[in-house]
Amino acid sequence: MTTTPTFSPAAVRDALDVDGSTVIVPGDPGYDEARRIASVVDRRPSAVVRPSDTAGVARAVRFAADTGAELSVRAGGHSTMGLGRADGALTLDLRGLDGVVVDAASRTAWAGGGVTAGVYADVVGAHGLVTPFGDARTVGVGGITLGGGVGLLCRSHGLTLDSLVAAEVVTAAGEVVTADAEHHPDLFWGLRGGGGNLGVVTRFRFALHDLPEVVGGTVVLRATAESLAELVALAHAAPRELSTILTVCPCPPLPDVPPEHHGTPVVMAAVCWSGPVAEAERGLSGVRDVAARAGGVLADSVRAARYCDLLEPAPPVGAAVVTRPFFAPGVDVATAEHVVEQVQLPGALMRAVQVRVLGGAVADVPPEATAFAHRRQPVLGVVMAMAPTAPLAEEQRPWAAELADVLRAGDDALYSAFVVDGDPATRAAAYPGATGERLAAVKRRYDPHNLFRANLNVPPAP
Ligand SMILES: Cc1cc2nc3c(=O)[nH]c(=O)nc-3n(C[C@H](O)[C@H](O)[C@H](O)COP(=O)(O)OP(=O)(O)OC[C@H]3O[C@@H](n4cnc5c(N)ncnc54)[C@H](O)[C@@H]3O)c2cc1C
Repeated sequence: MTTTPTFSPAAVRDALDVDGSTVIVPGDPGYDEARRIASVVDRRPSAVVRPSDTAGVARAVRFAADTGAELSVRAGGHSTMGLGRADGALTLDLRGLDGVVVDAASRTAWAGGGVTAGVYADVVGAHGLVTPFGDARTVGVGGITLGGGVGLLCRSHGLTLDSLVAAEVVTAAGEVVTADAEHHPDLFWGLRGGGGNLGVVTRFRFALHDLPEVVGGTVVLRATAESLAELVALAHAAPRELSTILTVCPCPPLPDVPPEHHGTPVVMAAVCWSGPVAEAERGLSGVRDVAARAGGVLADSVRAARYCDLLEPAPPVGAAVVTRPFFAPGVDVATAEHVVEQVQLPGALMRAVQVRVLGGAVADVPPEATAFAHRRQPVLGVVMAMAPTAPLAEEQRPWAAELADVLRAGDDALYSAFVVDGDPATRAAAYPGATGERLAAVKRRYDPHNLFRANLNVPPAP
């Protein structure tokens, strides 16, 4: 996205480089670091403002509204649309809002809008407590909470947004409000799934769950049509204490896997058992049985651990990735056979299909209770292709789309936090029917002029 700047560097400095906020413009030392995001999408904002508190965020929002600046919001920088930056825009970088305050007595914690999942999980983990996030440490609590949050505790503890109990929000008018079940309930509804459409969340208040230890890690086994289909079925049928993320790909050169298996198709089964540690075998033995039938376990890092220690470190940089998300009814043997064939095709650095089995606590919540409408979907997945450069990765987009279409089996629903474009069809797939209509109505109330549009944008209802 490119936009013509509506402000000068001097104006933005005068207005915003005050009271603990920092402004960085092109040519300043640190500009390249400030504009960098996890995606290879290369964007050059006209200014990056990094506030240190809620007042600084409100000032920046008012400046954008007054000057007509295109405003993009950056928390963890992991938007799959590369949304944390826009060419020519004013980027509101929330990384200065980095506090985590635990109130163990009320089993809640406040997290600043720029905190990453890993930092948050470490802080609350020191108290034997958890809030569920995704699989990566570096993802921002901002983007993942506002989108959904599907991870290694989703079947036992729900989506990340199910643990949100309140949010401090700067609205498009520059006002600071706290939204929860009693105050601004429509805003609270929309924040849980509606992405960055409704305001800037400066602080999230999360429920904390007692979970000093889980049993988790990754079992690597040979990918065959049968092993993949069996693992998906097993993950569905498992007690809800077991959450599973299956990645099918040619085996990377993992030190624990014998070299003769490197490059051959494997399933990397990331598992997390959140029930009593002594009962973990009840959930996990099936995975090892499937592995045994597929020729044996190739590697197994499953152990008792803190949840925060299961979150993955930053993914390697240097390769470009195209992704295509899907929801699926399941993965039968014929589809699994197709997947195993497809990930072995030449022409990319790596091809992979990831399958996250939902159900359990995700499905306990009615679809209309939050702006995440996909509670009844059995499987969330993503097709990925990696290439050395962004143009080469782009060439893989049709392949990823075609394979995702096979997997989705006719259902065009999409998870907003995984989408890669902002097309109206994508928006409708992420926010179908009544969800989209209600979001547009809430948008009209809190952002009638669509200031927050550098996202999977829901325009205000007319
Ligand atoms: C490597 C990787 C792993 C991932 N793993 C998972 C996973 O396991 N489970 C899962 O559910 N998702 C996962 N995701 C998707 C991820 O949740 C979304 O891309 C999310 O939007 C990233 O949030 P962020 O804050 O890091 O990104 P950013 O790019 O900083 O933010 C994305 C957008 O969210 C909005 N936003 C973020 N913070 C705020 C805020 N405080 N207030 C208002 N708006 C805000 C803005 O519109 C912003 O442009 C993953 C993504 C990547 C790249």
